[in-house]
Amino acid sequence: MNSFDVTVIGGSLSGSYLALLLSQSGYRVLLVEKEHLPRRKACGEGMAEVAKRYLQKIGIWNALPADSYSPYYGYDLYLETAQGSRAISLRKPQSTRPEGYRVSRSILDEKVFKRTLFTPTIERKEACARSLQFENGEWVVDCGGETATSKYVVTAAGATALPLLKRSLQVSEKVRGKDNRFGVVYWLSGKWTNGTPDTVIARSNGRCQTLLTAINDNLLNVSLLINKSDSSFTEKEKSELFEQSLAFASSHGFELDTVLEQRGAARIESRKILTKHSHLYLIGDSAEVFDPIGGLGMVHAFESAELAAESLHLALSGTVSPYLAASAYRWRRNFFAMRVRFLTSLSYTLNVDMPPLLVSLIQFAPGLSAKLFSFLRKKLLRSRRSKKMYLLPERSECRESL
Ligand SMILES: Cc1cc2nc3c(=O)[nH]c(=O)nc-3n(C[C@H](O)[C@H](O)[C@H](O)COP(=O)(O)OP(=O)(O)OC[C@H]3O[C@@H](n4cnc5c(N)ncnc54)[C@H](O)[C@@H]3O)c2cc1C
Repeated sequence: MNSFDVTVIGGSLSGSYLALLLSQSGYRVLLVEKEHLPRRKACGEGMAEVAKRYLQKIGIWNALPADSYSPYYGYDLYLETAQGSRAISLRKPQSTRPEGYRVSRSILDEKVFKRTLFTPTIERKEACARSLQFENGEWVVDCGGETATSKYVVTAAGATALPLLKRSLQVSEKVRGKDNRFGVVYWLSGKWTNGTPDTVIARSNGRCQTLLTAINDNLLNVSLLINKSDSSFTEKEKSELFEQSLAFASSHGFELDTVLEQRGAARIESRKILTKHSHLYLIGDSAEVFDPIGGLGMVHAFESAELAAESLHLALSGTVSPYLAASAYRWRRNFFAMRVRFLTSLSYTLNVDMPPLLVSLIQFAPGLSAKLFSFLRKKLLRSRRSKKMYLLPERSECRESL
């Protein structure tokens, strides 16, 4: 394989998005993805509204099929605590900007990955990157037997990046609290007898959080975030919780037709990987995994890719030293992640351990609370960069083939 400016390991949202941004500035990028897309990924499929602008930037938003996403306007929360059951609505009116979109990840990931096809400076390789070594100022990456060399490496390999990095380099990890949970996602086909809900419906009890996300009128994503590690989790318990979530969906008017697929995610945790290498960038879940209860993993994947693209551009063009560019990236990503962490904790509080005083306040002014929550998310996740940066030309042949 030839030599590249940047090798990107992982071609899901963060990896493909970064490759597209770098190709804009004419850099030669190798994009390594081990799976054949489309594939289903364990994900709650709720995308915050702010993420739409990244997809617009690369010309994907308008290319998404109408039945692959739908807007939602807030959350209907059902909390079962020792004090009893409470129903709380954090819903905005439909006349306002949606809170986010329920979007099929299999379609979204495939579209973003496919977009790299139309970019001559991106070479794609379907292989599993096994190891990387930094020798004489350049990286040598083992891509399933073949080797590639590049000036920089970006890992966008999701939560599985750690073993790859640990095999090859000295990295450390920092694990935060609220661990020991396990995610299982089911995709169900069926119909809503009372109309498709315009919110994400969530239920929480001591054992598990259940999220019902209606992608369209006939496809429902049911995500279970279970308070147990996967090793201590039996099939019997899983089917019991699944039966309960079906009953919960049915109580909201969902009539099940078929269980299409089920995917388990590894242990759910809040974790980040630390490295100070000046020629190595970690983006998306490779850099930091957030508790999915916040539904902000996709926004972080896009934003970290954009920040990395800016730093890489500065380093590759010789504007600043590689050390300075990498340090700036780490600092800026950390600053963004801090805000994501705060919002994730807030979602956790709302979904799992809401204090009675907050329950009373929200019940007293539900509309205002929903607007406030939405405003906070929008403000904290807003990116302040120039909108003109990295605008990909919308080539007609790409749009047609997408
Ligand atoms: C149960 C669950 C529910 C979630 N719900 C939501 C939600 O509702 N909203 C939200 O915004 N986020 C959610 N998230 C988080 C979100 O899915 C992730 O934050 C997001 O997918 C991260 O994108 P990424 O590109 O960094 O990594 P990933 O999407 O994980 O992609 C990594 C890619 O790298 C590839 N890869 C891995 N190793 C290698 C290798 N060695 N060589 C080559 N390729 C490799 C993989 O095949 C994969 O395609 C959820 C996560 C979980 C676990």
